[in-house]
Amino acid sequence: KSVVAIVGRPNVGKSTIFNRLVGERISIVEDTPGVTRDRIYAEAEWLTTNFNLIDTGGIELGDEPLLVQMRAQAQVAIDEADVIVFMVNGRDGITGADEEVANLLFRSNKPVVLGVNKVDNPEMRENIYEFYSLGFGEPFPISGTHGLGLGDMLDEVIKHFPEREQEMEDDETIRFSLIGRPNVGKSSLVNSLLGQERVIASEIPGTTRDAIDTPFTKDDQDYVIIDTAGMRKRGKVYESTERYSIMRALKAIERSDVVLTLIDADTGIQEQDKKIAGYAHEAGKAVVIVVNKWDTMEVEEKTMKEFEDKIRDNFRFLDYAPIVYLSAKTKKRIHTLLPRVLEASENHAKRVQTNVLNDVIMDALAMNPAPSIKGQKLKIFYASQVSVKPPTFVVFVNEPELMHFTYERFLENRIRDAFGFEGTPIKIFARRRS
Ligand code: GDP
Repeated sequence: KSVVAIVGRPNVGKSTIFNRLVGERISIVEDTPGVTRDRIYAEAEWLTTNFNLIDTGGIELGDEPLLVQMRAQAQVAIDEADVIVFMVNGRDGITGADEEVANLLFRSNKPVVLGVNKVDNPEMRENIYEFYSLGFGEPFPISGTHGLGLGDMLDEVIKHFPEREQEMEDDETIRFSLIGRPNVGKSSLVNSLLGQERVIASEIPGTTRDAIDTPFTKDDQDYVIIDTAGMRKRGKVYESTERYSIMRALKAIERSDVVLTLIDADTGIQEQDKKIAGYAHEAGKAVVIVVNKWDTMEVEEKTMKEFEDKIRDNFRFLDYAPIVYLSAKTKKRIHTLLPRVLEASENHAKRVQTNVLNDVIMDALAMNPAPSIKGQKLKIFYASQVSVKPPTFVVFVNEPELMHFTYERFLENRIRDAFGFEGTPIKIFARRRS
């Protein structure tokens, strides 16, 4: 998916535009306990094109001077985006700060679309001509508060998207990424999986937009490890900020089939672990929970069981994810990891037979009929799997409102029991049969 970044000095209205473009997509996502949504990076859609949007205004560097902040934000956009939306304020004219940003963007050679915000009515369009002098071609008058002009601007943005090959969809390669708090052992695990040399060999300093993805083959299966924040040594100021590392993690998750969410056995589960794991779940990716540094634990029969109970308790939303205990350092139990990754990936892409699915649903219904809501009874006519990655099912019913989430959960469990979806979330939607 292409990435669009919005940049500009403070108060030109970046966040308003961001929220407009992202629209309702964020709020319709189910509420998962323990997950706070970060609005710096989100999915957006224009006509039939989906893209990812970054609000660089959300990347803050504590109390650094404004100019340093703006430079860092522009740099994030330059590093990460395919197209940059440079926003200025039509009421203020061109300011020194705008020129600063313009200079940085100009040198980057990335496509830039100039949005002149706060042009709330047609008379104000007269003001936009001076912005030609910034050197980015036609300025697009927009109004974040009134939602005006966005379509024309987006048409222009989309024209600059690079053509992408469909390779990611068709091939058999399993793409996975490793996420987790700093120091949980992500780089160590990558090194252990690959053997030290390969990682060092592929480490290219100063690489910007293109993440370093490392391919390898194990038991005739091709894998690619997707680069994640914190796995390489980085030098720029903004790279240590939490929001930036979240953004990198989200980008890595997006490109993965399977996400390995790492936990440090030594320090135990922490609040941040839940938040990070929540991103993988929300993205609908296959998930494997990896408990690293298992070498630091007193090895007893019950240690693993106790740890598992804690994980299940803390990561209820990941009840489908298998847990692997290993040590990246000593390589103990490391051979148990890839089989789980493979299995999760296969289940993530699994398609079930419609007739078998319907047998399962009808059996479930017979065993445990849906409870009535306000005297009305849910009727299920049939079900069908509408997509994969993750497996998504539509259940056609008399009235979707009668599908209580506990009943949906029951159906999910029956489907899981019948088909084995270990490692992947599955989605179920109730639709009215027309
Ligand atoms: P990252 O920030 O998640 O990439 O973590 P690193 O891979 O840099 O590891 C952080 C620290 O944990 C380093 O000092 C590693 O040597 C140590 N470490 C990583 N894996 C293990 C492990 O399995 N056992 C132990 N005891 N230490 C580990």
